Amino acid sequence: MNRVDSPIRSQITDYRPLASPLEEIDWIPRPKLLALHRLEIETVEDLLTHYPRRWEDRHQFPHFPREESDGPICLCGEVVKTSVRRFGGWKKIFEATLEEATPNALSEPLVCRWFNLHYIQKMIATGQRLVVFGKPKVRGKRMCMDHPEFEVIEDDAEMSIHFRRITPIYPATEGLSQRVLRGMIYRLLNELSDQPLETFLPPELATGDRRSALRAIHFPETWEARDAAREHLVLTEFFALQMLIASRRSESAIRTTEPHCGNGVLLDRFVEALPFALTKAQSRVIAEIRHDLAAPHQMNRLLQGDVGSGKTVVAIAAMLLAIEAGCEAALMAPTQVLAEQHYEVLRRWLDPLGIRITLRTGARQEESGPLPLFARADLGSARLQRAGDGILPSRTLPESELASGAQYSRRRLPHFEKPWAIYAITITTAGRRCLSPQARTIVLNAWRHFHNSRYELFALCVMPDHLHGLFQPWPKNETPESETTFWSLTELMHSLKSFTAREINRLEEKRGAVWEKESFDRYIRSDRDLAEKFHYILRNPWDSGVAQPGQDYQWIWTPEDELRISGSSSPQNAATSTLQACAPQAIPHEEPHIIVGTHALLYEGVSFSNLGLVVIDEQHKFGVAQRARLTEREPVPDVLVMTATPIPRTLTMTVYGDLDVSIIDEMPRNRGKIVTAVRDMETLPEVLTFLREQLERGRQLYVVYPLIDESEKLDAKAAAAEYESWRERLRSFQCELLHGRIPALEKQEIMERFRHGQTQALISTTVIEVGVDVPNATIMLIENAERFGLSQLHQLRGRVGRGEHKSYCILLTSDQSAETTAKLSVLEKTSNGFDVAEADWELRGPGDLLGTAQSGLPALNIGNLKSDAHLMRRARAVAKSIFANDPALERSENQRFRQLIVESHGRTFSHVS
Ligand code: ADP
Ligand code: MG
Repeated sequence: MNRVDSPIRSQITDYRPLASPLEEIDWIPRPKLLALHRLEIETVEDLLTHYPRRWEDRHQFPHFPREESDGPICLCGEVVKTSVRRFGGWKKIFEATLEEATPNALSEPLVCRWFNLHYIQKMIATGQRLVVFGKPKVRGKRMCMDHPEFEVIEDDAEMSIHFRRITPIYPATEGLSQRVLRGMIYRLLNELSDQPLETFLPPELATGDRRSALRAIHFPETWEARDAAREHLVLTEFFALQMLIASRRSESAIRTTEPHCGNGVLLDRFVEALPFALTKAQSRVIAEIRHDLAAPHQMNRLLQGDVGSGKTVVAIAAMLLAIEAGCEAALMAPTQVLAEQHYEVLRRWLDPLGIRITLRTGARQEESGPLPLFARADLGSARLQRAGDGILPSRTLPESELASGAQYSRRRLPHFEKPWAIYAITITTAGRRCLSPQARTIVLNAWRHFHNSRYELFALCVMPDHLHGLFQPWPKNETPESETTFWSLTELMHSLKSFTAREINRLEEKRGAVWEKESFDRYIRSDRDLAEKFHYILRNPWDSGVAQPGQDYQWIWTPEDELRISGSSSPQNAATSTLQACAPQAIPHEEPHIIVGTHALLYEGVSFSNLGLVVIDEQHKFGVAQRARLTEREPVPDVLVMTATPIPRTLTMTVYGDLDVSIIDEMPRNRGKIVTAVRDMETLPEVLTFLREQLERGRQLYVVYPLIDESEKLDAKAAAAEYESWRERLRSFQCELLHGRIPALEKQEIMERFRHGQTQALISTTVIEVGVDVPNATIMLIENAERFGLSQLHQLRGRVGRGEHKSYCILLTSDQSAETTAKLSVLEKTSNGFDVAEADWELRGPGDLLGTAQSGLPALNIGNLKSDAHLMRRARAVAKSIFANDPALERSENQRFRQLIVESHGRTFSHVS
């Protein structure tokens, strides 16, 4: 080995020698390089972290077995005979008979067999020494090993690399034999032996250094050394992962927001009006969210709770707090059906509070055009410094309708008036009396009160001793069409002046005039005129010096401000009283407080104007990337994501590691019990008797059957056939069919009929999986239950047990395998979603349970989320404390960790198992 000429040596000044591309190493032949690239091995580091899949102790081999064994074993022997036998025409078996090097009296030869692998024949010859790895089986009188992994021991200079040691075996590599790969890694390790290799572990986690760990993982001296090396490397990997997660967290912690939390008056009223008391868990979680909303940095919280645990109530509570603070809230669901269901629930509970809610889903938005919330994104944060800001009303009369020679005039009311005219009006206080802040609030609220009933108010500014208003009187609606009469300025001014005078005098315990008799008023003649006056009014407090630049002035109003004002905590709680006074129907054209929609709300050029809180239902259908999209916007909204798919706690710290987690671990008390039973398909007649009995008692039933692929036409047929047979079985009861390809509107009608008890049984695919809420439906029957995952079964089961009646979940299966039995019996034993998730993980590994691809985390190379959970916990604790002490990683001792936080690994987490 010529160390001096090694290209790696010439790179000695490189900060990370591991980063050099393999091309720079001249002793790797080109064809091998290509094979390596196919494995995504590009750099020295990639090759060194191509970790062994297993190791063979080639110091000493066991004697050849005389019995079969449960697991594979590693043996070494000499080839004494080879042969090829034909069977069934073209097919061939190649056999190599091995004998032990040091046979004893009881030794028997081992026959290794390969079926139809022509090339093996060329690799093995009599006289060679082989190491084989496989499961010995007795075949006839012979001890055989079928398709063993094998390696030919060559008695050359490199023998010490491959033999008489603990030898690494790598993941299968096409075009690269174990021998070649092992040789390359061995040589590379030697060449690096005097290179600076940084250990990316803080002292709290470090055991040994990276260099010795890398050597020992490939070529360990002992098994203990291998374990220590593995721990070091797993910790390194986990630590990097947790640093990435902690940095995301830290970003949102640093990102400042305006607090999005009102005083809770609306929330209290909502809770009082609920027909049930909140569970302890719900109250605790609401308090956690409230704390986050009030904090001056962004909330990123995950709400985990089993189906039916009452997450919706918690979401509503959060949104009410935000609305009180003058913000809009958005609620996003994964499907249209769910969005519509949320919309209805919200309407039912929030209409009485005067909260305006809009539904926006793919199907509806074309009809209604862009919502105001989305239409004026550019006006985002124009709330504090009003000078020159605000939204222009764009409505003036066409020129022709204006009185010719419209004029300024200073005169007494009544005034020369025109239908649909817009007026600017100024009223001064009597004797320039100064209005107290409370008095100004009274005036402001009085003007707002008739907005959109007697007139449309474009702008209002209540100054200490005068006010400016810009408004358009409306027709009186009690008059018949033919003789439209408009509210006159006299009437309007009289009632406003006298009402506010009375209130102010009462407040200040005074008598006497509050307002001048005369008002200054004029027509608005054009859009430009309107714009000028509008901006004049909005600038007035600053232009006149009543408010300092940058300071807010509370008694200024445009329709846009309605939310801000109703959210502010003014003395007499004007907030709620005005929401009440302006019943929703009186202000039909207002902006919504809450927008409900599908996740598509994020796309299609949607931009919110004053979005304070986003609630995302069913987080697992919503990736980190999408979440990031939300947080990129300014001002930053708080984010609450909800999931009914609990995941094991050890996974939460990774997959949802960048979120704070709230858990509803308690079911509402009024819940009937759910009995779960696994039944063989053969017992269907008895099951049917039971079903009929329940239906006769007035209960309702879901029947769910699996579809292999929802996009197939075939399945529509299968669904129809399924439906026919169930109609037959449940004759005399009303059944309906629901599946994915039924148009949305029809689907909704079907659900409606089921909800109202017009149908007793719903035969369905899993479209009812999430969120559907029909308390009288107490039986869930799932056909071919073995085809569903545990979590999905648990979700489905959550559709029942929502009312006070006892409920049943029947899992039908004709699969008697141990695996299925073990799986389904989990559900019989527990109704707790976390336990189900834990069991699911035990049974089949994380896989798609997590939707990990969406976690946006790099793939793990050596660590195992399940068996190395204790290491993950340690890595996480340390990463967290580093960021807690140094949120922007500025300290010198933390500089070396900066390069760990690279998001673009390209490979994602979903390969982990
Ligand atoms: P999730 O979204 O968590 O699956 P929901 O919010 O849809 O659950 O709630 C399920 C049902 O339980 C709803 O009908 C809801 O009105 C009701 N509910 C929520 N909280 C309570 C409670 N504290 N006590 C009784 N019923 C409740
Ligand atoms: Mg829900």
